Amino acid sequence: MQNRNRPTVSVVGAGVIGLSVAWRAARAGWQVTVHDPAPARGASWVAGGMLAPLTEGWPGEGAALALGEASLLRWPEFAAELSSSAGVPSGLGTEGTLVVGLDSADAGELQVVAEWLAAHGRSVSELTRKQLHTREPALAQGIRHGLDVPGDLAVDNRALLAALQAGCVSAGVQMVSEAVTDLGMLDTDQVVLAAGIGSPGLRAALPVRPVKGEILRLRHRRGAPAAPGSTVRGVVHGRHVYLVPRADGLVLGATQYEVGEDREVTVGGIRDLVADAEAILPSIAEYGLSEASAGLRPMTPDNLPLLGRVDARTVVATGHGRNGLLLAPLTADAVLAELAGTPLPEIAVADPRRFE
Ligand SMILES: Cc1cc2nc3c(=O)[nH]c(=O)nc-3n(C[C@H](O)[C@H](O)[C@H](O)COP(=O)(O)OP(=O)(O)OC[C@H]3O[C@@H](n4cnc5c(N)ncnc54)[C@H](O)[C@@H]3O)c2cc1C
Repeated sequence: MQNRNRPTVSVVGAGVIGLSVAWRAARAGWQVTVHDPAPARGASWVAGGMLAPLTEGWPGEGAALALGEASLLRWPEFAAELSSSAGVPSGLGTEGTLVVGLDSADAGELQVVAEWLAAHGRSVSELTRKQLHTREPALAQGIRHGLDVPGDLAVDNRALLAALQAGCVSAGVQMVSEAVTDLGMLDTDQVVLAAGIGSPGLRAALPVRPVKGEILRLRHRRGAPAAPGSTVRGVVHGRHVYLVPRADGLVLGATQYEVGEDREVTVGGIRDLVADAEAILPSIAEYGLSEASAGLRPMTPDNLPLLGRVDARTVVATGHGRNGLLLAPLTADAVLAELAGTPLPEIAVADPRRFE
């Protein structure tokens, strides 16, 4: 039974984006219903959890850098508020990120990123071979080039999803375990479309496509060297790999393919991830392999999200591509601002109608 004294909103999709929006909206006084047949099991469940606008950065992607940094700034407060509202940890880690390159061409790639960031006023420090190995003794001996990026963080995505679900329950969000087939059927004042790769099925013009990513979860075994103290991103003969520490081991990712809605883990994907990660951190060979999974990133043509109002009743929050966890706090703030009728100027670049 809905209390008509409060404005009502339906959120379609219970990934990190839909849950963040729902939790924040309920705390802001909205009466919120979330619809999802498989809550918290989409791309958000599979992800690695990096909150890394600087080390994800690349020349030409200044708008993505600005959005990512605007969201990263919000992360500490978002995490603290969530933990206290949900009564469980948010999963946010504060250990920073190391970036390493294996051969001299890989080191050249690091240099390009460092110079581009410096040109944008973001400095990252280069580490000598000795500094690198003092910081992370388990790194492969041959690694000579590295960058220290203390501001790029990581979150345990599954702890985060559990906290968001608990936060939603405690804020009074109603969960409906069914797929939405037509936004017009939803009986609320406002609708937020946050269905990841399912979004174009509900609003055809949205240019969101699935980009497959495979990822491994490794369990630390007794006697094996400890996992690194911070996230380690590596460039290995031109291929990218990352190792994100977790309480019980490491997450190791991620492949990237344009193959439509294919969620099957391939032997080739596992082979490449393990080979590249082992070139960075040989001790992973002593870890247990606890999970291999694949997820579908909701990607847009310009790698920026689709974030904003598309009609008087509908706000879109999707297309977060490789950065949905990073962008969750900014997205929640942006959607709340749209619902209140005062859009955030900083998300103008993410206007969902920019491709029309
Ligand atoms: C391998 C991999 C690694 C990644 N690593 C990172 C990382 O390190 N850092 C980072 O920031 N991001 C990362 N990402 C990206 C991140 O996971 C996504 O950007 C983010 O999860 C998108 O969140 P979402 O809520 O939009 O989508 P999802 O988590 O996919 O949630 C969408 C939800 O909508 C529901 N849905 C779909 N259709 C309907 C419908 N018709 N009715 C109702 N519900 C519907 C689905 O069931 C699903 O639960 C990674 C992604 C992958 C695949």
